[in-house]
Amino acid sequence: MSDAEPEANAAFFRLFEGLPRQGPGSDACTREALRRLPPLPPEPRVLDLGCGAGRQTLVLAEVLRTEVVAVDLHQPFLDQLEVSARGRGLAHLVETRRVDMGALDLPPASVDLLWSEGAIYLLGFEDGLRRWRPWLAPGGLAAVTECTWLGEMRSAEVSAFWREAYPAMGSVADNLARAERAGFEVCDWFALPPSAWWDDYYTPLLQRIEDLAPHADPALAAVIAETEHEIDFYRRHHEVYGYVFYLMRAA
Ligand code: SAH
Repeated sequence: MSDAEPEANAAFFRLFEGLPRQGPGSDACTREALRRLPPLPPEPRVLDLGCGAGRQTLVLAEVLRTEVVAVDLHQPFLDQLEVSARGRGLAHLVETRRVDMGALDLPPASVDLLWSEGAIYLLGFEDGLRRWRPWLAPGGLAAVTECTWLGEMRSAEVSAFWREAYPAMGSVADNLARAERAGFEVCDWFALPPSAWWDDYYTPLLQRIEDLAPHADPALAAVIAETEHEIDFYRRHHEVYGYVFYLMRAA
């Protein structure tokens, strides 16, 4: 890690802490994914990986009325989730754990539903699924969102942006094949609508930028510039890429 990285990380967290979400998604999409999944066993064991401030954790606990184990490395996000869970009378159903989602010490076949929104890219879609697969009980289910190429018309500008930001980004067909190779059968998938990028993610993030920008130190100013570029890019090119919910069963 270079000397600049801790400062960049601190700036990143300053921008993202306290926001409703740390990636695209919406409560409605979490509910839709739950509705589309095959039936779960009674009292399913549920794991939410890279939960962040845990909007999806709260929906899972509320709808399934069962305990959800929510995993993230950043303690302030987990603290925020615990406060929200208490506020919504769900504290008894949410257990937070500060551990690496790629290296959890879990017995094999001990999870019925594995959930992860906006986080698997940190491991890579296929590698993440491969690592998580052994934790699932036979016939266990997984619901995972991943940024995905949606259109065929990739201008040089869009290609260059993603070659830098996430070169491994695949199309839906690529990701269906990756899921199969990782030991899953894909039951269904759907693209998140643009509102799932704006309402609880980019709009509050832009508001935070407006509040912080006038007092930003150089590290924070750099993170803000990069984030503004990313948001402007999505505004101009959202037909070509987007988040997709992949709904899978352990094969
Ligand atoms: N699911 C949330 C957060 C997505 S952002 C949402 O949709 O709003 C990705 C999250 O993964 C961040 O909260 C980050 O702290 C977390 N993270 C990054 N690397 C991780 C790791 N190795 N293990 C667990 N969490 C990690």
